[in-house]
Amino acid sequence: MHFDHSYAQKLSDMVSQVRISPLLEPELALYNEQLAEDIELKNEFSQPETLFDALFKADGYFNLNAVAQKYGGHQFGGWNPDLGDGRGVLLAEVVTQKQRSWDLHLKGAGKTPYSRFGDGRAVLRSTIREYLASEALHSLGIPTSRALCLIASKETVYREQPETGAMLIRACQSHIRFGHFEYFYQTKQLDKLDKLFTYTLQKHYPWCINHENPHYSMLEQIVLSTADLIAKWQAFGFCHGVMNTDNMSIHGITFDFGPYAFLDTFDPEYICNHSDHNGRYAFDQQPGVALWNLNALAHAFTPYISIEQIKQALTQYETRLQIHYAELMGAKFGFKKVTNDDMKLVNQWLALLAQDKRDYTQSFRLLCDENLSQSKLTDHFIDREQAQVWYQAYMARVAEESLPKNERLVTMREANPKFILRNYLAQNAINEAENGSFEECKRLLKVLSNPFDEQPEFEHYAQTPPDWGKSMEISCSS
Ligand code: AMP
Ligand code: MG
Repeated sequence: MHFDHSYAQKLSDMVSQVRISPLLEPELALYNEQLAEDIELKNEFSQPETLFDALFKADGYFNLNAVAQKYGGHQFGGWNPDLGDGRGVLLAEVVTQKQRSWDLHLKGAGKTPYSRFGDGRAVLRSTIREYLASEALHSLGIPTSRALCLIASKETVYREQPETGAMLIRACQSHIRFGHFEYFYQTKQLDKLDKLFTYTLQKHYPWCINHENPHYSMLEQIVLSTADLIAKWQAFGFCHGVMNTDNMSIHGITFDFGPYAFLDTFDPEYICNHSDHNGRYAFDQQPGVALWNLNALAHAFTPYISIEQIKQALTQYETRLQIHYAELMGAKFGFKKVTNDDMKLVNQWLALLAQDKRDYTQSFRLLCDENLSQSKLTDHFIDREQAQVWYQAYMARVAEESLPKNERLVTMREANPKFILRNYLAQNAINEAENGSFEECKRLLKVLSNPFDEQPEFEHYAQTPPDWGKSMEISCSS
């Protein structure tokens, strides 16, 4: 591997050089050895002294090279040009032997020119939540930024109350957001917009360059990868919480998640973000919002492609999302091919779950139970009559599948996780960490790294939340 700084160097007028503000008594609390190996990061960074020297010493390698990126974004539907890395810095790009590039980005690094009224810090609970969710999503097969390490500290950070400050280093293809393009377009800095497009095409979409219209091709790719991502969120019951365009990655990965939630009971209108008063980012709004966001991004493509071409790219979103969602849901029910009639069965099941407020994950896992019977399924619901009708229709449908039952159940278990990152599990890990122990974080990470396996020794991690963990309110202020 080697370190590169292509964004900072080639787009130097779109970043600000910044210094990292050290934390009081930093402690390397979590380190993702597997990810470090995958991105070929030098072993020595797993040693706290080496890592902290690079980050915090005046002549530390990361400290000398850190930059904050400028971007804007539509927040809750309103345009805001005043955004940027307010508490995060890009440390370096790691280029692997296979020429794959990974941004290393430090969150909670202190004030930058884009901090506005913020302190540039991140608190322990939010860094733990991001770490856990990144790795949980990854193990479910949902594209996401990853967590490389978490640095705890004795630094006091003030939110609604005093908390401890922490930092997280995350890794992903790049930190380029929809809001990067929107900013230079909306502020009419078309020369910079052009440089950003050239850079992004060369580095991240090189295969689009030979297309007769590279910008069209790139927009199409972003549309399709975003559609695939949202299909996965909907199928696994993931609610992002703050789908502002500055939190949308151009790589179709889950990105910048704060008040997220994995659904416990199935409530399509679930709002996980306490600050989202109108439910703009409610679970069932996510598909529409992502298209709205793509539309906002597409404005930045208007200097390059016609409105007709933009429409052509955007109209692919819905079809792609529906096809991928149907594939994913089909797999959850054990259907090899999914027809429109099958989707009716899927929707009837979801309606039953919603009506009887059943747990999303456990209900699907029940379908994979080798001892599933009519009475077992009807016992799971309040409306037993409807459940029975559904069960019989479902059994008739799976009888058409060619796979023997046991093999079908194996494939279904690979599509229906037993373990998801429920908010109460994250909270338990946070509580322990706030008392100085990261053992629960590590245990939870281990469980979530094999979400589809039975792991009987961890049975209790598959349980629905206790009363205190049922309607947890997670806010943006972290
Ligand atoms: P977020 O809600 O985390 O996506 O952040 C929205 C914007 O606010 C981004 O420009 C962030 O960099 C900035 N921001 C969030 N928290 C802080 C903070 N504590 N200090 C400075 N800027 C922040
Ligand atoms: Mg953000």
